[in-house]
Amino acid sequence: MEQFLVDKFGRKHDYLRISLIERCNLRCHYCMPEDGIQLRDKSEFMSQEELFKIVDEFVALGIKKIRLTGGEPLIKKNFAEILKHLASLGVELNITTNGILLDKYWDDLKAANVKSLNISIDSLEKDKFNAITRRNYFDRVYQNIITAVEKGFDVKLNAVLIKNENDGEIIDFIELTKKYPFSVRFIEFMPFDGNKWDWSKTVSYETVLSLVNFEYGDKLKQLQTEPNGTSRNFQVKGYKGSFGIISSVTNPFCDSCNRIRLTADGKIKNCLFSEEETDLLTALRKGKDVKHLIFESINSKHKERAGLKAFEAKDFKTRNRSMISIGG
Ligand code: SAM
Ligand code: SF4
Repeated sequence: MEQFLVDKFGRKHDYLRISLIERCNLRCHYCMPEDGIQLRDKSEFMSQEELFKIVDEFVALGIKKIRLTGGEPLIKKNFAEILKHLASLGVELNITTNGILLDKYWDDLKAANVKSLNISIDSLEKDKFNAITRRNYFDRVYQNIITAVEKGFDVKLNAVLIKNENDGEIIDFIELTKKYPFSVRFIEFMPFDGNKWDWSKTVSYETVLSLVNFEYGDKLKQLQTEPNGTSRNFQVKGYKGSFGIISSVTNPFCDSCNRIRLTADGKIKNCLFSEEETDLLTALRKGKDVKHLIFESINSKHKERAGLKAFEAKDFKTRNRSMISIGG
């Protein structure tokens, strides 16, 4: 009989997000702490074989969709091999990437039947992009985005909005969707360890919406939210692409959450904001029952945002990992 991961609130979990690696070829300031993260011994992370064994357990529990993320998934050694193996499991495969190395993998992505690519780009201005990411890859990322569209991938662009940094570019991003059929997703800046988050830097869903309403008025059309989707989506009439707002801070999508996360060191996080984790890798290495631990983790999932207080509370604090080691 097929088994499913259903939590106490009746939410069925069939979407696994795997962080393949904690390292990255960029240093986005909202993700990677200024001093970097502590490098750990290779033995603390899942080997390829261990990753495949753990994924098999999840697939047996009804996982239908897998997203590879990181750190930067494309810098993982043997990325193409991992992709090929996962593609053979009959699940939908998606990738979230900073886009730098996409040109190395077009054929592998097509062969693995990857249809959709989420590519992060926080500014359309080269100098600003390079300042946010503390590296110099704007041209390559931008070119790879255009090539991804030309190759027929369903492209979503992720832009984390930070007040007084890139919030002046919201309309520029939307204007790109006039010519290109991608979807730009504006993401509210979220708090994680070491990223100097504070409420005043967040550009909220409401703020974006009033700006675009002012700019486009009647030309703006609301699109349907996808089942289990995390963004509220809109289109400017006559434009090829669309845009959405991911409001995890001011208006989370917990009611329809179907996601579970596996970190590169083999731990489950049942919510992006969860401070608690379940260690599957140690259990696997000791020959213990991993399925049972997965059930326990889902069963302990909170109703909303891992039971955290409202972010806007003055005394808000989180002990969560930094985003680079969770996988967004
Ligand atoms: N390196 C890949 C990339 O940048 O797309 C995948 C990993 S990254 C952690 C996944 C997503 O999380 C990216 O779109 C990134 O912009 C987003 N992200 C990272 N830190 C964030 C934060 N503090 N608030 C909101 N989104 C964040
Ligand atoms: Fe790297 Fe992605 Fe984090 Fe930027 S957001 S530092 S690209 S993992």
